[in-house]
Amino acid sequence: MVNVKINDEISLTDERFLMIAGPCSVEDEEQIVGVAKELRKIGVNVLRGGAFKPRTCPDSFQGLGEEGLKLLAKAREVTGMAIITEVMDIEELPVVEKYSDIIQIGSRNSQNFSLLKRVSREKKPVLLKRGFGNTVDELIASSKYLSMNGNHNIMFSERGIRTFEQSTRFTLDISAIPVLHEKTDYPVIIDPSHPAGVNRYVEPLALGGTAAGADGLMIEVHPDPSKALSDAAQQLTVPQFRELYTKVQRINTVLGKTMI
Ligand code: PEP
Ligand code: MN
Repeated sequence: MVNVKINDEISLTDERFLMIAGPCSVEDEEQIVGVAKELRKIGVNVLRGGAFKPRTCPDSFQGLGEEGLKLLAKAREVTGMAIITEVMDIEELPVVEKYSDIIQIGSRNSQNFSLLKRVSREKKPVLLKRGFGNTVDELIASSKYLSMNGNHNIMFSERGIRTFEQSTRFTLDISAIPVLHEKTDYPVIIDPSHPAGVNRYVEPLALGGTAAGADGLMIEVHPDPSKALSDAAQQLTVPQFRELYTKVQRINTVLGKTMI
């Protein structure tokens, strides 16, 4: 597996397991800095939070934009955590690149080839989410756009695909983990939150993904999910996340991996 350098302190290597956590969207300073401090105490080193949000409906909360990026940078300053946030558009890339340690390409942009080509010119690590209608081979093809200028600091994220099943929001494709490991050298980060759709399904999906050999997890955690401006139903509370973290740690001990 390639060694993905996140910042001067953390690199994701074979024997390590990366935990990324934070709210779906950055909402205000108290929310993001408050949850970051709690997550840091638990042992999380990478904070997630959307500032440019890909919402299905235009009247839903669209994110705080650059203001949200500034709040993420504030949370980094206070906690020392690295930050990851999504870029939706080529136009936003310079500002996202300026604030974020890791650039996230969302499911809906997984085959936005012009965006991928533009991001390939950046030096920062990239988390490439699988399009919910894409095969594993299509995801791998997208990663080739990202690496076309020599940046191999790439992580895949399996976040669920559309199937006939309606009882969860998406179907988490656990099989993608061994298949991606066989076909590529990039780590695989499981996002159990978006396929679950409701918070009670997040933990089983997270534990399943960990046991199946994922290289990390990205989990939505909100200080008060009932008040969240996006994805309220699936975000975990801090105590729920703490419990999940302990269980993930136990599985990783068995697998001989250290959590970062
Ligand atoms: C997210 O992780 O913030 C997100 C919008 O997820 P996805 O692109 O997988 O829907
Ligand atoms: Mn979300």
